[in-house]
Amino acid sequence: MRSIGFVAARRAKLARRQKMELRHAGWAGGHVRPLDIRRGDTVEVLCGKDRGKRGTVERVIPERQRIVVQGVNLMKRHTRANVAGNVQGGIVDFNGPIPYSNVQLVCNRCDKRTRLLHQVTDDGTRVVVCRKCGERYERVSS
Ligand SMILES: [Zn+2]
Repeated sequence: MRSIGFVAARRAKLARRQKMELRHAGWAGGHVRPLDIRRGDTVEVLCGKDRGKRGTVERVIPERQRIVVQGVNLMKRHTRANVAGNVQGGIVDFNGPIPYSNVQLVCNRCDKRTRLLHQVTDDGTRVVVCRKCGERYERVSS
């Protein structure tokens, strides 16, 4: 058996445990996809009650493979007034997280649902490119 360094072994063990935790919880079947979508991107919902809707990404939760999109999966939280904590009671609308696999990125150039292709240009800079139109996908802020 090939021996690996202590640090590498510990890291591998941690990664394995994380993967197992995800599998037990039933998220993405233990397979963790890197999230290509960032906050501020526009996505289209593919399934669920908000199917076909488009919205801006508010938050990504990579460890749970979930994503929060503005105006999608609207939920209500009933809160009780807490005088001491100065919290006003009532019903608060908020966007619930939805599975990452239920959404697809919308290209800001060709306005189509797409995936991103990671490329390295000749001068060594990394760019992301839309698979549909081939244009460089640029984020306002990343
Ligand atoms: Zn495009």
